[in-house]
Amino acid sequence: MNILVINAGSSSLKYQLFHIENDTVLAKGRVERIGMETAILVHEPKDKPEVHEVSEILEHTTAIRKVLALLVHPEHGVLASTAEIHAVGHRVVHGGESFKSSVLVNHEVKQEIKRLFDLAPLHNPAHMLGISAVEANMPDVPQAVVFDTAFHQTMPAQAYLYPVPMALYRKHKVRRYGFHGTSHNYVSDRAAAFLGRPLEQLKLITCHIGNGASCAAIEGGKSVDTSMGMTPLEGLMMGTRSGDLDPAIVPYAMGKEDLTIGEISSMLNKHSGLQAISGLSSDMREITEAMEAGDKNAKLAFEMYEYRLRKYIGAYAAAMNGVDAIVFTAGVGENSEALRKRVCEHLTYLGVEFDDAANRTGRGLERRISTVNSKVQVLVIPTNEEWVIARDTYDLVQSTTH
Ligand code: AMP
Repeated sequence: MNILVINAGSSSLKYQLFHIENDTVLAKGRVERIGMETAILVHEPKDKPEVHEVSEILEHTTAIRKVLALLVHPEHGVLASTAEIHAVGHRVVHGGESFKSSVLVNHEVKQEIKRLFDLAPLHNPAHMLGISAVEANMPDVPQAVVFDTAFHQTMPAQAYLYPVPMALYRKHKVRRYGFHGTSHNYVSDRAAAFLGRPLEQLKLITCHIGNGASCAAIEGGKSVDTSMGMTPLEGLMMGTRSGDLDPAIVPYAMGKEDLTIGEISSMLNKHSGLQAISGLSSDMREITEAMEAGDKNAKLAFEMYEYRLRKYIGAYAAAMNGVDAIVFTAGVGENSEALRKRVCEHLTYLGVEFDDAANRTGRGLERRISTVNSKVQVLVIPTNEEWVIARDTYDLVQSTTH
């Protein structure tokens, strides 16, 4: 079965075409600058040269049409016809409290995703554009939606409620939802397989550290707490996001700097984090290079970033009354030797025995960076959210046809 996975943003669209039974990616690519005359389409078919096209793409529907044309193109394609695409899976950021697992798209599901626009105004409307664009091009193909929030729906009330008047929760659904759920779910499964132990018996702390970053406390395979909150702003310091701060700073800064709600929101989401402290970049590679070249602000940004991550690991070990393994994943987690080393060297109190040589080898592979006998194991597991979306879509389609 071939499954097309789509991650639609407001002006972009990423895709991967999986052949499930062979566990292969037949093609992947992205469309950027949708809505502009100079939209870019990059298509990477398996075992064939990459295709770059610049053209006017004003709508997501056109973007999907162009992607489908490339997938069946005599020279650049990987399929004989679009009829060989058996289902489409979409990443959807916010599933609110309604969606505790992935579901097939129908009228009610679409209505519910629309009702959740308020909670994810930047993301969910874009995902709906993606769903409609597929419907317009392939009306008979089943579609599934996989939510970033769903995996965290197992959190207990003590973790998901904020200590504010309950009316905010009852009337407006103000609570912690958590994000990156597909990634936390995937790497926790893989960690159990790597350790050769049943997931049900493990206490894991998974650290998805990319441009956006979140930690999760996972007990017996279920998320019991996570650092992102009602929105993806809470928790760890990130590339351009502040993460945790005293909420009183918001009205104070608005008053002092004469900022609107939109401006303060933009400041915390787009102009904070590594970018704000380093004054240089939101990109951890550039921060690390600048730090190693002696830049003091880059060093401070790196140290704050690492310190805040380490505090969350400590908090989640306390939340679960112990931890068996800590897992690093996503762009920074998978690639930054410097960050992992500094975190792990400060976790000796938990029983982490860091293996410096292992930390410096095996990029791209699932691996252990603690000693084998370390009381708490530390692993690096490359994430694969698209694969989880493809697998969930496959399972849902299979369950309706059997
Ligand atoms: P993601 O959002 O998962 O794609 O992660 C993006 C982040 O990973 C950016 O901050 C990159 O700088 C960071 N990253 C990628 N490669 C490296 C590397 N070799 N060392 C440090 N950070 C890296």
